Amino acid sequence: MSGILYIVPTPIGNLSDISQRALDVLSEVSLIAAEDTRHSGQLLHHYGIGTKTISLHDHNEAQRTQILIKKLSEGESIALISDAGTPLISDPGYTLVSTCRAHKLKVIALPGPCALTTALSASGLPTDQFMFSGFLPVKQKAKQDAITSAAKRHMTCVFYESPRRVKDTILTCIDVLPALHHIVLAKELSKHFETYISGSAQEVLSWLEEDQAHQKGEFVLMLYCKAPNDEALPAQAIALLNQLGALLPPKQAAAVVSEHYKLNKKQLYEYALANKTK
Ligand code: SAM
Repeated sequence: MSGILYIVPTPIGNLSDISQRALDVLSEVSLIAAEDTRHSGQLLHHYGIGTKTISLHDHNEAQRTQILIKKLSEGESIALISDAGTPLISDPGYTLVSTCRAHKLKVIALPGPCALTTALSASGLPTDQFMFSGFLPVKQKAKQDAITSAAKRHMTCVFYESPRRVKDTILTCIDVLPALHHIVLAKELSKHFETYISGSAQEVLSWLEEDQAHQKGEFVLMLYCKAPNDEALPAQAIALLNQLGALLPPKQAAAVVSEHYKLNKKQLYEYALANKTK
């Protein structure tokens, strides 16, 4: 019988954020593949886990995958962890997991800490749809393009950002984002200095510049640009819609204006609904 590869999330700052199941799996497997064995050694030591570890990081993943696939095929179960949070989310593990799947080996992921979901859930930005794009490109033009196209998605876009680049990234946001945008910068999640800064790129920049300490730590950047709706409607159409809105239900008012000005009925209806007086 083959073994199981467990994907085990570990804390992103607060050592208590590890599940009992994660601790059980880490104790029971025959080997833990860790991004940095010295770093994870502290966590394992803290919880009295003596399981053997092997390194698996960006530079040795292909070679390690061969070794681990062999062990799994021979019946050993293995846990994969990264330095913090959920493995494979901007962390190593993709080659290993995809190769396991190709070999029909069982992979079980445990639910647990992840900076992406933690930041998003408390951001106050829309969560019905969102995009996660890992780290932004370092080169300026590519970064500008990435932020511009994220803004056009009209959904919450989430990025990881390093303290070295956070200020530069916010400056880029000031350059390329449309006037109506909303940024939330989540810093040091689950740690002592956890902070959420919410507002325009200019307001976030002011906060970062207020104190050098504000630029230190780990960051999740979230941005949201609402789809243009009423702004795109001609002023005469809005005026007529407002007049009719006082007399008719939104659906009928939208239908009349749509017919008269040959405009999108749904967009007019949404506007009428949001501004309804009748
Ligand atoms: N796999 C991890 C996860 O599940 O979130 C992410 C690993 S990625 C290499 C590290 C980045 O995640 C950091 O640079 C930062 O952008 C974000 N991050 C990790 N921990 C964080 C925290 N406590 N607060 C804010 N951001 C964090």
